[in-house]
Amino acid sequence: MKKITIAKGDGIGPEIMDATLKIILAAGAQIEIEEIEVGEKVYLSGNTSGIAKSSWDSILNTKVFLKAPITTPQGGGYKSLNVTTRKMLGLFANVRPCISLHPFVKTKHPELDLVIIRENEEDLYAGIEHQQTNEVVQCLKLISRPGCEKIVRYAFEYAKSYNRKKVTCFTKDNIMKQTDGLFHAIFDEIGLEYPEIEKEHWIVDIGAAKMADTPETFDVIVTLNLYGDVLSDVAAQIAGSVGLAGSANIGEEFAMFEAIHGSAPRRAGQNVANPSGLLQGAVLMLNHIGQNEIAEKVQNAWLKTLEDGVHTYDIFKEGTSKVKVSTSEFADAIINNLGKSPNTLKTANYAESKPIQLKSYVRKPSTKKVLKGVDVFLHWNGLNVDELGEILGNLKTNNLNLNMISNRGIKVWPEGFKQTFCTDHWRCRFIAEKAERLSSMEIIQIQELALQKGLDVIKTENLYEFNGKAGYSLGQGQ
Ligand code: NAD
Repeated sequence: MKKITIAKGDGIGPEIMDATLKIILAAGAQIEIEEIEVGEKVYLSGNTSGIAKSSWDSILNTKVFLKAPITTPQGGGYKSLNVTTRKMLGLFANVRPCISLHPFVKTKHPELDLVIIRENEEDLYAGIEHQQTNEVVQCLKLISRPGCEKIVRYAFEYAKSYNRKKVTCFTKDNIMKQTDGLFHAIFDEIGLEYPEIEKEHWIVDIGAAKMADTPETFDVIVTLNLYGDVLSDVAAQIAGSVGLAGSANIGEEFAMFEAIHGSAPRRAGQNVANPSGLLQGAVLMLNHIGQNEIAEKVQNAWLKTLEDGVHTYDIFKEGTSKVKVSTSEFADAIINNLGKSPNTLKTANYAESKPIQLKSYVRKPSTKKVLKGVDVFLHWNGLNVDELGEILGNLKTNNLNLNMISNRGIKVWPEGFKQTFCTDHWRCRFIAEKAERLSSMEIIQIQELALQKGLDVIKTENLYEFNGKAGYSLGQGQ
């Protein structure tokens, strides 16, 4: 018997949760349920995170959380419960299987059957944003080696456990050579440990186009947070089934399972909503807790019910569908089909799947790190960059020299194009003549000299070499 925490959420949440629990219990799920309250009521009671301290205790204890959708109240100040839960519990992997249910649910891609594994904690979603000048704001994209290793390893282990043949990595490392480059490099590195699995890498733009066009050529996709966010919605939509998809958020210790849709408040309390999305979340949960046979039984009964044409209003279509049912009738139809398998759709087979155990991350030995220079960022309202070049060129420390000025990443000094549009945000790169003699104090000194000239220094970024390889990008055009 495995203890799990559930939350019925808002809107259609309670109805679809009741239906889901009824189905999985009828299938024989060995679970003991602890219910907590999250969402609108908790937010409106003055708790800006949407979840009370006592509810955390339940999740920390059971480690498994099945959550119905919630309504985030309008107006500012309310923090996203999903983001909070992912971050607090270290749920680094978002797993979203997308499968076509053709011809029973309309789709242009009858053979689509893929799983998107999205990194969940890093990238632009760290939420570190700053306004630096009148004209420029920034959002920091943070990518870490442990973050990449964990998600990439999870993707390969998932493929192995669920008998999938290929893992595709999507990045934009032709442009973001450091951040996306690290993700790609780790994909190649860890991929070597899985010789039996086919591996490929696509630049995300053309890869996304290919996924939207011929999704059947993909199997497991692993990618960074932002691309994964976009791609997983595209994949669910082209499968014809945004309302039918579930997702898992997996961490080393904890996991959360849910439907991908929201609380559909206009449909609440009418017993019409489709419980399939949350049921798919529950199937992922049953697999996660090692109750694979029950997961398989539920999945096959669900597929059979859809095949029988027993459909809720959202997927009901004259011709294909046979009977339009309510939430509870749909649940009962699935229960009646427990033990049966679909005839046309691919039968689910999870018997062999083992719960995924990840090796813990082991910190690598430090590499040789050499300070080479500094990027000094300025808020400067001038228009003629040669003027700025002259002021900065005259700032003298022991061995730091002005090497380049760029504006929004494009080199504008020396020898820039006068046609390049410039904002009030300038990156001024100083490189040491003799790097071995450059100290951090000299970086402070260059900043002081700039301030003495009346320049507005908004930040500095040290430039390092790691094992002889530059740990910073060149200016475009440099
Ligand atoms: P939504 O997913 O709730 O609804 C979009 C459309 O799909 C609506 O027409 C709705 O009636 C329909 N729909 C959704 N789920 C359905 C189901 N199971 N059966 C039948 N029809 C279904 O998205 P929204 O309207 O943008 O958001 C409503 C609320 O949900 C908002 O407060 C939003 O913040 C919240 N939300 C929560 C989550 C979550 O908790 N994970 C996710 C997304 C949105």
